[in-house]
Amino acid sequence: MASVEMKNIVKKYGDGFPAVNDVSLDIADGEFMILVGPSGCGKSTLLRMVVGLEDITSGDMIIGGTRVNDKAPRERNLSMVFQNYALYPHLSVFENIAFPLRLAKTPEAEVQEKVRAAADVLELHEHLDRKPANLSGGQRQRVAMGRAIVRDADAFLFDEPLSNLDAKLRGQMRTEIARLQRRLGITTIYVTHDQTEAMTLGDRVCVLRRGVIQQVASPRELYEQP
Ligand code: ADP
Ligand code: ADP
Repeated sequence: MASVEMKNIVKKYGDGFPAVNDVSLDIADGEFMILVGPSGCGKSTLLRMVVGLEDITSGDMIIGGTRVNDKAPRERNLSMVFQNYALYPHLSVFENIAFPLRLAKTPEAEVQEKVRAAADVLELHEHLDRKPANLSGGQRQRVAMGRAIVRDADAFLFDEPLSNLDAKLRGQMRTEIARLQRRLGITTIYVTHDQTEAMTLGDRVCVLRRGVIQQVASPRELYEQP
């Protein structure tokens, strides 16, 4: 686990108006931070700069006290959960979850232990032998989260992870993500344009507009505003 500090982060694509314009935001160790705002406000760009998939034009990105501006994604111990899940269709649920451990050449006994522990938390233990094609959308989402969990990442990053799901599943997954994060206590940055997600999931909500932070507040503070 780690804190994430953004200091005066600017991102310019070409010579246009900055997509992210002087954003400073401190996310505490274990905190669940929502980034919300209309399409084009810079949410994904900001998240991609945390992961290292986008260069930072100016400012400092500090994860766990270390400046990471020049670190490649694989040198940052972060887990990103995508809306398309990015599962391997030819691998079983077990092997999909185990994938990062296999890459790291983790001993088999530890792989077994970690994957089964993650599957228990995610209630996937009955589906470990199945292929992703035979799972529901919500189950696939949980497999993607399982893969993130076994990596013992410093932080979870979510980019609109529920936007492909129908309303009922979205509600279930919302509950599930909130429960999991509380249980695991992992620093989380969660991008959404969904008001309900923003108001129910996070410890704090960061409202972006045209690349600028408009407000950072708890859901309660936002709710009680006139
Ligand atoms: P959001 O995730 O809030 O919808 P984005 O971060 O995707 O917003 O985009 C912020 C702004 O940056 C938008 O104006 C968008 O058009 C622009 N932008 C995003 N990615 C690129 C890119 N690769 N090249 C040029 N402009 C981009
Ligand atoms: P690994 O397979 O160990 O995750 P990668 O280099 O593939 O190593 O990925 C490093 C980090 O960057 C991971 O957190 C991964 O989720 C993220 N990542 C890799 N490729 C992409 C991508 N195209 N878009 C977003 N995140 C990515």
